[in-house]
Amino acid sequence: MKNIISIIKYKFATKKIIGLGSPLLDIQAEVSQEFLQKYGLKLNNTFFAEEKHLQLYEELLQIPTHSHVPGGSALNTIRLARWMAQAQRDEVKFIGCVGMRDKFAKMLIESTNQDGITALFDEQQYPTGKCAVLLCNKDRCLIPLIGASAHLSKEFVDKHIEEVKTAAILFCEVYFLYPRAELTKYVFKVAQESNVNTCLSLSSVNAVSDRFNEILSILPYIDYLFGNEEEVGQFGKNFGCKGSLEQIMQKIAAFNKVGVRDRVVVCTQGHKPTLIASKNDFLNVIVETVDSSKIVDTNSAGDSFCGGFIAQLLNGPDLIKCAKAGNYSAAQTIQHEGSTIPKYQPDFK
Ligand code: ADP
Ligand code: MG
Ligand code: MG
Repeated sequence: MKNIISIIKYKFATKKIIGLGSPLLDIQAEVSQEFLQKYGLKLNNTFFAEEKHLQLYEELLQIPTHSHVPGGSALNTIRLARWMAQAQRDEVKFIGCVGMRDKFAKMLIESTNQDGITALFDEQQYPTGKCAVLLCNKDRCLIPLIGASAHLSKEFVDKHIEEVKTAAILFCEVYFLYPRAELTKYVFKVAQESNVNTCLSLSSVNAVSDRFNEILSILPYIDYLFGNEEEVGQFGKNFGCKGSLEQIMQKIAAFNKVGVRDRVVVCTQGHKPTLIASKNDFLNVIVETVDSSKIVDTNSAGDSFCGGFIAQLLNGPDLIKCAKAGNYSAAQTIQHEGSTIPKYQPDFK
């Protein structure tokens, strides 16, 4: 797979990464049982925000120990990629949408900038996207509000389309297809025509089945597809493919493709080996053990994996090394709570 032809086909000229997706401000705080009851919430559940939850985000900001970080699956990946590549601010950018002149937008833009990412954020008349992460003893509850992030306009994307065309890598999440499938397809088509390495992550099992037709319509423009074993398994079901993960992945890899590169499908399996398939090849990459006493939070392990993978891809498509870089960055982030960027420099060679 690491052959001369694929290396020549790789776009070497630039080291730029561009992300596309729903930026959300993650606001985390330790709360009481009374707080949960007040908003009708239960631990270990996700509640998509309704009208009655809107005040909750304001209230969280009043809790002295609250913290906030940029979130949203694709933005997490891009933040980790920036860290792994130790890239400059002008090399790693993210296109998304926030609310117009609301304080959460300001917080999200500032914290994204602090993580070294250029935030190319459209502004629309909706509340800024956010996700409350409520902790109560060791359990948690999530309240996402997609808000403005669903309203990225084509006009804004067109204003920044040169950023897409001149990038080495484009990365997006299936979650973004819920509101913006047509726009995503347009961006992927432009990127593929400009020989950008295009990447999509499958987001969740439900997202795969809910948005299967949209995924298939974008798939011809996708060079790298990422998912965990459940998401790839769900893809197989929707595809009518009853075989093993290897067979499903190879079927996805062989699906209609435009552009100069063959498609690569990457499937993570937690602590089990990472699987990589192309039309004619299949690889297993062992995951180094992380002592279970050191594992704090595996929630965005997959996002972090993609970040390390695409950072390494900037140096060329050595797929085994890319997967090892993905496993390295995921191993770092599962050792602390949430999707915060490590304070130390990456130690991956
Ligand atoms: P997702 O978060 O999308 O479910 P996975 O659970 O497959 O993704 O995890 C992605 C990556 O995170 C794995 O490939 C591995 O590198 C790392 N990882 C996750 N769980 C563990 C674990 N228990 N031990 C070591 N690495 C892990
Ligand atoms: Mg998992
Ligand atoms: Mg995942």
